[in-house]
Amino acid sequence: MNKESTVENVRVFVRVRPFNFLEGNSGLRQVVSVEENEAVLVTKPNTAKTYKKSYNFSKVFDISATQMDVYRTVAVPIVEKLFEGYNGTIFAYGQSGTGKTYTMIGDTLKDPQKGIIPNIFSHIFSEISVANNDMSYLVTVTYLEIYNEEVRDLLADDANKKLAIRERTDVGVYVKDLLGFTVDSMESVNDLLNRGNKNRAIGSTKLNALSSRSHAILTVAVESKNKSTNTAKFGKLNLVDLAGSERVSKSQATGERLREAGKINLSLSVLGNVISALVDQSTTHIPYRNSKLTRLLQDSLGGNSLTAMVAMVSASELDYDETINTLMYADRVKQVKNYLTVNVE
Ligand code: ADP
Repeated sequence: MNKESTVENVRVFVRVRPFNFLEGNSGLRQVVSVEENEAVLVTKPNTAKTYKKSYNFSKVFDISATQMDVYRTVAVPIVEKLFEGYNGTIFAYGQSGTGKTYTMIGDTLKDPQKGIIPNIFSHIFSEISVANNDMSYLVTVTYLEIYNEEVRDLLADDANKKLAIRERTDVGVYVKDLLGFTVDSMESVNDLLNRGNKNRAIGSTKLNALSSRSHAILTVAVESKNKSTNTAKFGKLNLVDLAGSERVSKSQATGERLREAGKINLSLSVLGNVISALVDQSTTHIPYRNSKLTRLLQDSLGGNSLTAMVAMVSASELDYDETINTLMYADRVKQVKNYLTVNVE
């Protein structure tokens, strides 16, 4: 068996959330517009002179984009490679309330509102159903949360139990005691998603915080076995709903809460540092080990993974500063290169 290697930049997309009912009725101005599907234009509010800034990405989804449009463009190229033994990661990044969870999960039961995750599973199961008889597949799911630099299993009976990160030369970095569930139908997937999402909410309330402060990582592993050649391929896909990227001061945290907030945002700021270090040619030290998130997702940035990020923004003039922060962050991410290797027969 030979190895095939390629270099691929992280593909970065932007999605603009439509105004909600309140925003729509408040007379707020929209400061974000999309040009030619790949440039996003932001106009600074309340300035005498029009100040416009434009950023280019793989694709920008305007407010009329459907869940299926986003799924097809962002996820399908990665899911197809999963069966060939490639690893993948899709990040949802952005300020709270801009549509990260909507984009990743959406409504698991109503078709037009289904997000990337349920659509990925439908895709996997339909590929398996048309595969030839020589092939057999095993699809497993894990679902964890990182909150306040603590890792919890969202699918465990006791979702409050803290889990440890370990490393072994043969398997790499992993979470000790994280449960993996085999799935073979959308019913089994929806059961797991519902259980996990409920645990995310419960855990957060107990910790006196919003789920927007936690990072959720759902990982799907697909093992494809060819019985006639006796070979197997193994691909792993991480689907990451990141904590809200807004600055802490916005939540008016003080004292203990502010210190806690600093820790809560640690994974997100280390993610930014990892991206900067990867982009900055002059440094070779990448600080993956400085946070739980970057340790677990080390391969997704600068490693062996096909990676996409969807940066979510609000179009409202009130969110101008956060929108600019998100676009600047996303602009840097697109310079990150990944080094893909896969076994070929
Ligand atoms: P986040 O996960 O970034 O905090 P959510 O996904 O919870 O944000 O989205 C906030 C609200 O906006 C939810 O009520 C969600 O249904 C709605 N929403 C987000 N994006 C869209 C969209 N593209 N179309 C319609 N509603 C959306």
